[in-house]
Amino acid sequence: MSLLDPVWTSLLYLVAAVFFILALRGLSSPRTARRGNLIGAAGALIAVVTVFLSSRLENIPWILAAIVVGSAVAAPVARRVKMTQMPQLVALFNGVGGGAAALVALLELSHAGDPWVRLAIVFTLLVGAVSFAGSGVTFAKLQELMTTRPVVFPGLPAVMAAVLLAAVAAAAVVVFTGSLPLASLLLVLGLAAGILLVLPVGGADVPIVISLLNAFTGLAVAASGLVLGNVLLVVAGTLVGASGTILTRAMAAAMGRSVAGILFGAFRGGSTAGSTAVSERPVRSSSAEDVAVLLGYAQRVIIVPGYGLAVAQGQHTAAELALALESRGIEVDFAIHPVAGRMPGHMNVLLAEANVPYESLKEMGEINPEFKTADVALVVGANDVVNPAAKTSAGSPIYGMPILEVAEARQVVFLKRSMRPGFAGIENDLLYEPQTSLLFGDAKDSLAQVLGAVKAL
Ligand code: NDP
Repeated sequence: MSLLDPVWTSLLYLVAAVFFILALRGLSSPRTARRGNLIGAAGALIAVVTVFLSSRLENIPWILAAIVVGSAVAAPVARRVKMTQMPQLVALFNGVGGGAAALVALLELSHAGDPWVRLAIVFTLLVGAVSFAGSGVTFAKLQELMTTRPVVFPGLPAVMAAVLLAAVAAAAVVVFTGSLPLASLLLVLGLAAGILLVLPVGGADVPIVISLLNAFTGLAVAASGLVLGNVLLVVAGTLVGASGTILTRAMAAAMGRSVAGILFGAFRGGSTAGSTAVSERPVRSSSAEDVAVLLGYAQRVIIVPGYGLAVAQGQHTAAELALALESRGIEVDFAIHPVAGRMPGHMNVLLAEANVPYESLKEMGEINPEFKTADVALVVGANDVVNPAAKTSAGSPIYGMPILEVAEARQVVFLKRSMRPGFAGIENDLLYEPQTSLLFGDAKDSLAQVLGAVKAL
């Protein structure tokens, strides 16, 4: 006997759905993102409690035990994870969601008499399994448990085509007959398709694929809502599917790539294969004092943060340096590339944490024309997002990606630890240009030394 009647259940589902929509709205700006996140979590809580109160659940101890175990694993992991490892954590959580939807669909098959419901079941099974296995491979790549380079082997496209054909055939039989063994086979084929889909994707494209698989999970969950007759799952799944698709397209556009190019590029040799070769050309290395003089007597400085700033956790020192320069009457801005770091909005989040005012964060389109008026572009742990190869070198894996035009500034200073390249694994010719100098070291340490030297001027 359930505690809530259907009208109350629908009302509470509606409230949860509105919370999810408001959460997305909040997440669309760094100012409101934290609140958006909390609203989303509250929506999820309302949804879960409503399910408990409105359904005649069996096996409640098992369900509660699963919730306890899931929370006990996920909460500490989410707390401890470094921000630079966020994409792989998202991949992991997302994959689990897809896998759960697929398992629910498999279990529902025995109750599904209607072929339309079975159609929703095979869709959930296949897409959920692709998302689960694909996300597992992206996790392994980003966590460097396996190579981040594209993994291709002769006949891969043929194997992929055979798996997909077999999946379509199995799905058709399941829709018409409800066969459980074939549904299980479909699950296995979905897992294989997920692995084969992601293996050939390399380097910088992996986080985009994570976003795409996120959209897949959303679609699988929406379809599982049709299977279970649960409107909220349909709404929530559709929201995830739509926002994941928009994010995927935005990330691909920011990198000047097409989603199809990313997924099938490696078959044609076009995905970001990268190379770690470093040339022996001479570079101009600087001391913290030299950099402080350059900065301290400039009129306009543009700081370009990248992944290395996040790794070094140098955001607070960067913010302090900006303040110190501003107190000398120097105009300072932060140039934000949409894919700097390892997740969309990474630099915004990082600098917001250090209380850099939003007005000082300039997006690429706005800041690019301003580099030519800058005396110094201070590149802190960024590489690919300022690499001119994206414009000039047609064969380069990042060719076509819009970049921050730091080369236009009178002087360019790179803070990095070595001559190693960035995520895409390609050399940056700008490091060898006459107007470029390098201050080697961990970004946070270097910033602290430069800050000290600026204060001593
Ligand atoms: P990169 O990965 O290109 O370069 C990072 C630089 O930071 C390297 O030059 C590295 O050099 C330096 N670095 C690393 N650790 C430190 C440290 N502790 N102190 C100082 N320097 C350090 O970063 P970008 O931000 O320029 O580019 C991001 C890359 O990630 C792009 O290729 C982008 O396409 C990709 N990407 C980003 C996504 C996003 O959503 N943000 C999504 C998909 C891909 P060294 O080792 O010598 O110190």
